[in-house]
Amino acid sequence: QEDQFKKVLSHAKEYGYVFQSSEIYDGLSAVYDYAQNGVELKKNIRDYWWKAMVQMHENIVGIDAAILMHPTTWKASGHVDAFNDPLIDNKDSKKRYRADVLVEDFREKINQKIQKDITKAKKRFGDDFNEDEFRATNQNVVRRQKQIDEISAELTRVQEESDLEGFRNLILDLGIVCPVSGSKNWTEVKQFNLMFGTKIGASAENSTQVYLRPETAQGIFVNFLNVQKTGRMKIPFGIAQTGKAFRNEIVARQFIFRMREFEQMEMQFFVKPGTQKEWYENWKQTRLKWHLSLGMGQENYRFHDHDKLAHYADAAADIEFNFPFGFKELEGIHSRTDFDLKAHEEYSGKKLQYFDHTENKSYVPYVVETSIGLDRMFLAVFSNSLQEEALENGTTRTVLKLPAVLAPFKAAVLPLVKKDGLPEVAKQIMEDLKWDFNVFYDEKDAVGKRYRRQDAAGTPFCITVDHDSLEDNSVTIRHRDTMEQKRVKISDLKEIIKAEVDV
Ligand code: ATP
Repeated sequence: QEDQFKKVLSHAKEYGYVFQSSEIYDGLSAVYDYAQNGVELKKNIRDYWWKAMVQMHENIVGIDAAILMHPTTWKASGHVDAFNDPLIDNKDSKKRYRADVLVEDFREKINQKIQKDITKAKKRFGDDFNEDEFRATNQNVVRRQKQIDEISAELTRVQEESDLEGFRNLILDLGIVCPVSGSKNWTEVKQFNLMFGTKIGASAENSTQVYLRPETAQGIFVNFLNVQKTGRMKIPFGIAQTGKAFRNEIVARQFIFRMREFEQMEMQFFVKPGTQKEWYENWKQTRLKWHLSLGMGQENYRFHDHDKLAHYADAAADIEFNFPFGFKELEGIHSRTDFDLKAHEEYSGKKLQYFDHTENKSYVPYVVETSIGLDRMFLAVFSNSLQEEALENGTTRTVLKLPAVLAPFKAAVLPLVKKDGLPEVAKQIMEDLKWDFNVFYDEKDAVGKRYRRQDAAGTPFCITVDHDSLEDNSVTIRHRDTMEQKRVKISDLKEIIKAEVDV
């Protein structure tokens, strides 16, 4: 798994998908730039979401609210008082760590020991090895598994109760050592607010403290009535938005999984009070279907229903994806009650109510939210698509099997040789196709090598122009996944590609 993750990182750089931010200055931790191919993949994911959520729903509209908002917004939303991570310092190394991550790492180490035992036993017993039986009977494994379960239960409890003392006790009880100095000399656990602050205004006296938004949702809540009235929206209806959000994450690892500057795709669905459970179930299924429509394997998704809920929610679930480092949250579906709108009513002194003509009364709607990280979705798609394939001739090929609808370039046009008028025909094909798709042109190196390059870059089709093309107005089209090659008319290319990349 670790190996696969390393491959993902290096492939993302080598093929122009993701670069470290300000790399020439050794980068900025947990901040990344999308490169020439990455920007296209990211845009295609965003468009795929927007199409499914906005274009396909006549009762959902979009907005694009500003990143900077009135600071009271974040008082009302609870982010000023309660958007915190538990931090602990090591007294000897003077290094700071997220308390929950230290414990999680420790748990992971025990897990690795179990895996090692299993690998050893597998080697020893060969075909007779039964993993379930081994896990249930081997004393070492049973003991370790029990320890993992206990740590997990206690970690969940202290997280949910924000029990800072409990965090510290866990770290001390487990004897967790500082990864840098190896010492066990820890301070108290403190809460650290994750919002990035900045100032508006020219002089120190007149400046106002503002925040870079830590979620896009609040821009939707404060615009709820404006959109409802000007769009003459009738409940149930939704407002969707994609855009940057910022969090001063303390432990920022795992590449673009957890970033300090990231992008969210959120939709707030406003419903009649009392109907929220039904809509919550409905959106859970709708969102899962959206994921499955990309064909990345049903077995790679699962729901995680939350037992303990945030103060604003009456139901919440994550859609988890099987990332190279295991199942982790990709999207959240939250039934947020009327918490946000009520809080904004209270802090702004303005009514945020809907007049329901069928009921002949006003009320503050309930909200069901779907919230997905665009960068996390990018990582899910990219890591799932990157595959090493053993070929019949004994060699292997690296292929990025991106869903065709998301691929940065839909086709590459390749003249077999750089002469005899073949480039001219290839360029003409480019001219014809570029109105409908992103098409790539490549005339360098042998054609086999160019195929491999396009496989690794994720391009679903290669179109090769050869000498016969001059006579028969046909070309060879090669399919990335099957490597199948077919002779087709140049005039049919557009329809053939469209059939695969359109949704
Ligand atoms: P996590 O528990 O992983 O920190 P969260 O529960 O805080 O996530 P939400 O506040 O529910 O996340 O945000 C909704 C979505 O935004 C998440 O499902 C995730 O896809 C994305 N997201 C949140 N934080 C980050 C981040 N630091 N970097 C990238 N994506 C993020």
